[in-house]
Amino acid sequence: MEAANHRLLERELQAATAAGLLILHYQPRFCLATGEIVANEALVRWRHRKQGLILPGTSVPVAERSDSINLIGGWMLAEACREAACWNTARLSVNVSTRQLQSGVLLPQLAAALQQSDLPPDRLELELTESSLADSSIDTLLALSAIRDQGIGLALDGFGTGSVSQSMLKRLPLTAIKLDCSLVCEPMSREDAASVRAVVEAGRAMRLTTVAEGIETEAQRAFLSGIGCEEGQGSLFSDPLPPRQLRPMLGAARS
Ligand code: C2E
Ligand code: MG
Repeated sequence: MEAANHRLLERELQAATAAGLLILHYQPRFCLATGEIVANEALVRWRHRKQGLILPGTSVPVAERSDSINLIGGWMLAEACREAACWNTARLSVNVSTRQLQSGVLLPQLAAALQQSDLPPDRLELELTESSLADSSIDTLLALSAIRDQGIGLALDGFGTGSVSQSMLKRLPLTAIKLDCSLVCEPMSREDAASVRAVVEAGRAMRLTTVAEGIETEAQRAFLSGIGCEEGQGSLFSDPLPPRQLRPMLGAARS
């Protein structure tokens, strides 16, 4: 994106945040064995006055180039925890940006969001990208341990696309790995299938919950379930939904 356009979009995004034009949709995540909803991932959307609903592929990278992501990330955590507190048992999963993790704002943001919402910490999971963990500093590792010690889950998002090695995986206090949707896309060659199987087996050997993203077909679901992948999300089950559509599916206390 050209620099001037980028600056304009960044100013618009800051104004949109202040004006309450960011909203969260939630994509349910299912237990592949039972079909039960086990968690919901919060995904930000920006209601742009002229362009309609802007997906995070455009807005998050803009926000991540400045401290705007800290402001937006703090709002998203608080809003998502407030929403999840009215679900019966399903957990909440929130994407966290590298900058939020490395700038030191995440721990106070978590404390505020949990305190204001009364959401039990063990119903919250943070999704971290491979890039934010690839060269983890000691400060990052300490922050992750402090988060995990509170009972909050830590999932490695988009696994299989980056440079996190299995030895790195063992050093991180993770609870889940989310296989990137590019790994399970169809048609799947014999080699692709073998590497997905190896990733799922490695996750299970490390006692991590294995989650597949981007499940679009029954064939993908059957394959993943058959190789022991435990959980999944994708358009086969449900697209991301506004809270008022999700709540009735969860038996929420208010709908
Ligand atoms: P992600 O965390 O990997 O999220 C999953 C993406 O897959 C979402 O895109 C979701 O809408 C999309 N998806 C759902 N079902 C399917 C399917 O069946 N097939 C395929 N191909 N895709 C599917 P979305 O909402 O556009 O989000 C894109 C990325 O933006 C997210 O990827 C995440 O990295 C980032 N993001 C979203 N919300 C936030 C946020 O609140 N904070 C931060 N830091 N990043 C966010
Ligand atoms: Mg995610």
